[in-house]
Amino acid sequence: MSSHQTRKRTSLWIPLTLVLGCALIMAGYVLGPRAQAKEDTTVTQAKKKILLIAGPPSHGNGEHEFRAGCMLLADALNKSTANVEAKVHWYGWPKDLSAFDGVDAVIVYADAGGKMNEQIQELLDTKVKKGMGIMFMHYGVHPTKEVGEKYFGPWTGAYFETGWSVNPHWIADMTAKQDHPVGNGLPNKITAYDEFYYNMRKLHPKGDCDCCMDLAVATPTPEKIVRYINLWNEHGDACFGTPQGLMWAREPGNGQGRGVGFVGGHYHRNWAIDDFRKLTLNAIVWVAGAEVPKDGVQSEKITEEKLNENLDRPVKDKPIKLPTDALLKQKPMKRPEDPKNYRR
Ligand SMILES: [Zn+2]
Ligand SMILES: [Zn+2]
Repeated sequence: MSSHQTRKRTSLWIPLTLVLGCALIMAGYVLGPRAQAKEDTTVTQAKKKILLIAGPPSHGNGEHEFRAGCMLLADALNKSTANVEAKVHWYGWPKDLSAFDGVDAVIVYADAGGKMNEQIQELLDTKVKKGMGIMFMHYGVHPTKEVGEKYFGPWTGAYFETGWSVNPHWIADMTAKQDHPVGNGLPNKITAYDEFYYNMRKLHPKGDCDCCMDLAVATPTPEKIVRYINLWNEHGDACFGTPQGLMWAREPGNGQGRGVGFVGGHYHRNWAIDDFRKLTLNAIVWVAGAEVPKDGVQSEKITEEKLNENLDRPVKDKPIKLPTDALLKQKPMKRPEDPKNYRR
């Protein structure tokens, strides 16, 4: 089953673009340069189209709520001052590929790298090479090794690789890149408890390129790890004390679209953390090629009621709670003595 949440119909996009284009040309010819300059600001800046792909349910209530998370983010984008228009498709990839027509950025919030078939991989690759932005969130950054090497590295600069990257649940103090639009309006520290993967496989591991960058970093330490889980390994241990990119980007600057990865988003409640949400909204707007507002993308507070909208499998009389300080005071789990052979 798949559905669309739309504010405006897809079919309006193309005619609207044509009308705006004609209006611009006429403004230029008929009204002269001064009037044209005035028209440019109001007419020519077509909204950037963002398509969020929400994967099917896979976890318990409140975890991997891809659809509810996408809808909450899309709603925030559509109500914001950013010049974007967001739609959500669930569950998984559209069968009708015309859904990608005119799209400026695809945001994939889904398990296992979005589980793209070859047709989708090739379609996205063609579009990214022509300038479409692409962003993966949470388990979305974790494809197979082969797909990671072939696509995720070149698209976004990094990805989760089993046996190399790790997936503990921990309390991270994230710092967003301050000299970058994605850092707009964000404080030096964004604290959250999440399944923050780290030690990504990087396209340019030494950072010796102009194209790849971390957009938000945090430093894991044993005191911050609340749960070591299935994919823990010795590389996770070796990274303690070293800043890790929890959000990263690639911008090759050759006409190819921007790419972003963000490891957060396991717990749905974290979307209620204002700066966590703003970091993500800023990144989505940036990856679509729109201007990130100076103070970042502002959005309404997420109430408990709002947080519980659109859940895949809501539990009666047990709503998801807003994040609490207690989550940030959880005790660390005993550090595994044999990380190399760690299993759940
Ligand atoms: Zn690079
Ligand atoms: Zn997860």
